[in-house]
Amino acid sequence: MRIHHLNCISSCPLGGRLMDGRSRSILERGELACHCLLVELPDCLVLVDTGMGRRDVQDPHSRLSGFFLALLKPDFRDEMTAFRQVEALGFDPRDVRHIVLTHLDFDHAGGLDDFPWATVHLMAAERDYAVLQRTWLDRQRFRPQQWSTAQTWRCYEPAGGERWFGFQRVRQLDGLPPEIAMIPLPGHTFGHAGIAVQGENGWLLQAGDAYFYREEMHAQRPHCTPGLRFYQWMMEKDRAARLATQQNLRALKQDQAHQLTVCCGHDPVEFEQLSGRSARLPASGFVSVS
Ligand SMILES: [Zn+2]
Repeated sequence: MRIHHLNCISSCPLGGRLMDGRSRSILERGELACHCLLVELPDCLVLVDTGMGRRDVQDPHSRLSGFFLALLKPDFRDEMTAFRQVEALGFDPRDVRHIVLTHLDFDHAGGLDDFPWATVHLMAAERDYAVLQRTWLDRQRFRPQQWSTAQTWRCYEPAGGERWFGFQRVRQLDGLPPEIAMIPLPGHTFGHAGIAVQGENGWLLQAGDAYFYREEMHAQRPHCTPGLRFYQWMMEKDRAARLATQQNLRALKQDQAHQLTVCCGHDPVEFEQLSGRSARLPASGFVSVS
């Protein structure tokens, strides 16, 4: 299966280098990607995460929280939405028949409204918790304004499938082949999952927000920038689970490096390595296949 890498609206957080580890100073804003995948199946397309969507671009203040708009200052460009990048690759957005979500944070679920015909797959625990809107921070991150398609979501329990490289796997996703797997990776949120896709070069695990910075996956000396360490601490729902998930991913990456690739949702360096282009550029018909 062909996999295209799409950055669906960068975030430009305060703290610059303290966040992304590559901006020139801590005074400028940094740049974090929103790494989505577009998978070509023989008869349709599948999106893994949606980033922020066209309605977020058109009217961010009605859709997103003032807190996160100030903190992250997303780079709202219509050409960077998943909908527009699907078109730029020469596809019809109506052929996006399935969307598989790592979790429901606003920067992953904002594009759902742009594909109302698609079946949305996510963990039941993610939907069940997000709708509670329990804490102030929950209400800033989980945005019901982005959930016009919620009536048709398909939700899954964590177990039920064959194990995947030692990880639990949810049962076969409705209407999708076994080459697309949902792997529970809890901690960042209660129902957070990684999405694994078996492409032309082996398995690719999009680990969502299970980690944020590429060096967190170093086997011997894992490292994270102070800004992203703080951000992950602020956003975590279950610390013990989050740290265990990261440890499991490090071990997976070390043991299976020859047959799988792991990436996260927001590291721009990982995105650029896998996509072969700058995180600031939309996909086009001539590049971005791995
Ligand atoms: Zn995120």
